[in-house]
Amino acid sequence: MKFQGCEQKNIHFCRQSRSLLMKYALFTCDTEFTPPWNIGTWRERDPWTFEVGIKEITSLLAKFGIRGTFFCEGTVAERYPSVVAEMAKDHLIGCHGYNHENYGGRPVHVWSESKPVFIEDKNEKRQLLIKAKKAIRKAIGKDPEVFVAPFDSIDITLLKILEELEFKVDCSYYNYSHGLPTLFFMPEGVNILELPLTVIYCNEMKYKNVIEAFTYDR
Ligand SMILES: [Zn+2]
Repeated sequence: MKFQGCEQKNIHFCRQSRSLLMKYALFTCDTEFTPPWNIGTWRERDPWTFEVGIKEITSLLAKFGIRGTFFCEGTVAERYPSVVAEMAKDHLIGCHGYNHENYGGRPVHVWSESKPVFIEDKNEKRQLLIKAKKAIRKAIGKDPEVFVAPFDSIDITLLKILEELEFKVDCSYYNYSHGLPTLFFMPEGVNILELPLTVIYCNEMKYKNVIEAFTYDR
């Protein structure tokens, strides 16, 4: 799929996307084990998401007739295949890496004590994403074709791996316009449609408070 567009830096923006964005909003949800904001490693995470959280959010979406995309970790599909299969009846299942590793080209700063696992080796990135794809396919009977990178950590190397693995859409380039609608585009050099996340700015402290409230006040 190719789009006609104007060029800004190394990105081809699609002229048509602005008018489409006036009509559509896409709901997505990263579907992962609760991150250990106050403990030492991303390898030890809380399954609360799958025992309580998912049911709450899917019931709410059903109430309003909204269908969305749930980006699942491979490890989630391995441990909770029936929950993922159930979500797949009403929603699109995407991929969010295998175990929330950082696959992008730079170490990620997070505001907690936890240390993301940074994968530098290209082949290791590929193998982890193959493992994630297989786990999701086993749960839902088909390959995921949409991807969002853990920590939104993305670069051209990762996009090329995604293309090799036949992903069609990536949503990892979140916009910096803080609440303004995001335009889709084709990153140069890969045949993948980029549908960036729209983010709303809040300062680090506020965000930390939101996370703590969500994680511990339950
Ligand atoms: Zn995530």
